[in-house]
Amino acid sequence: QMQMGEEYEDPPRQNQNPLTGSLYTPRFYYLLEKRQRLPAWAARQEFLKLMQNNQVLVLVGEPGSGKTTQLPQILLDAGYHVQLGQVRAICCVQPTQLATISAATRICEELEVQVGSFVGHVTRFEDRTSGDSLLRFVTEEALFREALEDPLLERYSVIILDEVQQRTCEMDVLLGILKMVMQRRPELKLLLLSSSEEVRKVQSHFEGAPLLKVPHRTFAVEVLHTQEAERDYLKAAVRTTIQVHTTEPDGDILLFLPHEDEIDLACQMLRKEAVHLPVHLDARPIYVGLPLMDIQRAFEPAPSRMGAVKSVRKVVVATNVAETSLCIDHIVYVIDTGLVKQRAYNPRTRVEAQIVTPISKTSALQRARLAARTKPGKCFRLYPERAQSEWPPMIQPEIKRSNLTTMVLMLKRLGFDDVVHFDFVDPPSPEALMRALQTLNNLGCIDNNGNITEVGNQASRLPVDPQIAKMLIEGPKHRCSNEALSIAAMLSSLPVWLRPNDAFRAANEAKARFAHMDGDHLTLLNVFHAYKQQIQDGHDAVRFCAENFISIRAMRHAEVARDSLKVIMESIGLQMVSTDFQDKEYYPNIRRCLVSGFFTQVACLESEKRAAYSMLREGQEVILHPSTSLGHRPEWLVFHELCLSSKLFIKTGTQIKPEWLFDIAPSGYFDAQRINEKCSARAKLDRLLTRRFSQG
Ligand code: ADP
Ligand code: MG
Repeated sequence: QMQMGEEYEDPPRQNQNPLTGSLYTPRFYYLLEKRQRLPAWAARQEFLKLMQNNQVLVLVGEPGSGKTTQLPQILLDAGYHVQLGQVRAICCVQPTQLATISAATRICEELEVQVGSFVGHVTRFEDRTSGDSLLRFVTEEALFREALEDPLLERYSVIILDEVQQRTCEMDVLLGILKMVMQRRPELKLLLLSSSEEVRKVQSHFEGAPLLKVPHRTFAVEVLHTQEAERDYLKAAVRTTIQVHTTEPDGDILLFLPHEDEIDLACQMLRKEAVHLPVHLDARPIYVGLPLMDIQRAFEPAPSRMGAVKSVRKVVVATNVAETSLCIDHIVYVIDTGLVKQRAYNPRTRVEAQIVTPISKTSALQRARLAARTKPGKCFRLYPERAQSEWPPMIQPEIKRSNLTTMVLMLKRLGFDDVVHFDFVDPPSPEALMRALQTLNNLGCIDNNGNITEVGNQASRLPVDPQIAKMLIEGPKHRCSNEALSIAAMLSSLPVWLRPNDAFRAANEAKARFAHMDGDHLTLLNVFHAYKQQIQDGHDAVRFCAENFISIRAMRHAEVARDSLKVIMESIGLQMVSTDFQDKEYYPNIRRCLVSGFFTQVACLESEKRAAYSMLREGQEVILHPSTSLGHRPEWLVFHELCLSSKLFIKTGTQIKPEWLFDIAPSGYFDAQRINEKCSARAKLDRLLTRRFSQG
């Protein structure tokens, strides 16, 4: 698998892998030689000295300097997994599932060991580690779950938090927890990695933590702006890519786009355009949700075409995961739309959405720098220079724009009762904290004094949103825990429906075949059942999915999620039961169970013509999304999520009966005076209650 023109030399004296006893292959030496040229190796001595003398160390290095893949191995070589005479593990925390799996897989390749042996990874629903794993790559969420079982994280000798400059919500909360753990475990080492120097806040959170900068050779980058902002940035991005490809000398291209589906679309457009060009253009996507195989393809150099003198040019089309987390080599041209998709949350309206916003000035700089890692490069910005004047210097920490319900439940469960005074790096808004406490109280996860309840304890064990957890906990009561579990697994998976551009109609028709007239949750259940039936009957599930425009990855993901959740449900004593399918209560039971988790997300019809609904407490208008499988506009809906695009849309809604609200929600939750006056539900529920009362 060696590349042409690159040779390895200077093999280490040892030719046997100490971890497995096998002989190293030539590829091992080839990669080793490449690894040892990375900046992280050059800083090795100083790094180890600082690790030795400090409990916390902040290390800053450009993307691609070897922080993620090399430092854990350097620590392992230096014996950091042995502590107080015990063999422990080194924990590497990554901000996304993709980064977690990708890094673990890469290190396994470098060390020539199997994934899940000495090096493994843990994500939400999957644990690919063994008792022997010395390097454990985990998501932030997975580390929380480990802390529930092992509050002082005693399994670890070193904890590495990667990409701390991203300031994800989970990372910020972990930084608070770890500060406490460090005080109680003076031998535990903490290594904070950052791709940017803007980490003063995090550094000062751990007073006295030194900062080591890994020197990195960079080249000049020429930055070019457009005269005006591009209205259709996708088209502009594709046009610019083709232009660079046809006019600029050799070198790969990296294009940043905010949306996953735009990335797929851009790749399609580029492939189509490139057919007419003399030099081939090889478009490869990168975003969270792609299978690892595809990600790996983006790392590989473009193959030279048979017999051609000139090689093929590679263009990687990526979200901001390629900005720092996944660093692709040999990029010479960066095309920057200046946009990113981010989490946004308004605690007042409780609307949580992913929105596209301008990037920060730091990000813009970072993206440009990626063009100059191997030689002088160029960055084409699809916005005028003046546009940047309004951009924030840095992105706002995610904790300030997140729904905190899950985080607050975790903190409560870990014994941090006073969440308002928790040691946050940056405190979240008091309003968002209050909202989270309120929601947890409504769900019965915490009592009126703010103490965690039995339901709260159970919910914290389930790696899903507290609302979904509540639905699972209530499953046995509504005699549908199996079905609630399947729905929960589908809701926690990837998008189920494929929407190929050239087969819109066929895709819609396929979807209609599974549609349940009472709602999208039940449609998801139908799809899951049909998929399982195919497998049970020995049919080809891949073909079934392809024929019905269903994402096979989503289905596999849902299966894994379901199995993993089922084990936890059983371990916390929840019975797995179903109502008989012939029973007319089969579906109503499931719908009631949905309400038991999501009664805080109920909407009432205001205008049939516009498919407009109002959210009961907030009065906010929301529109039923046209993608719904509901054939009519039911008066009352329970919904799973809102999505903000041209309007605020309900996605995944199911019809319910208003009487259920009184039976299922905590008493008083749907009292008329607590419903927004703008909402027609106020009078309707009031009438309903009076009638009930008079009927005794
Ligand atoms: P950092 O964490 O400092 O950004 P990494 O450790 O991720 O750096 O990367 C070090 C080098 O290894 C880079 O040249 C990068 O391109 C390469 N690399 C990392 N992951 C992979 C992978 N999955 N496949 C091929 N090369 C990789
Ligand atoms: Mg990294």
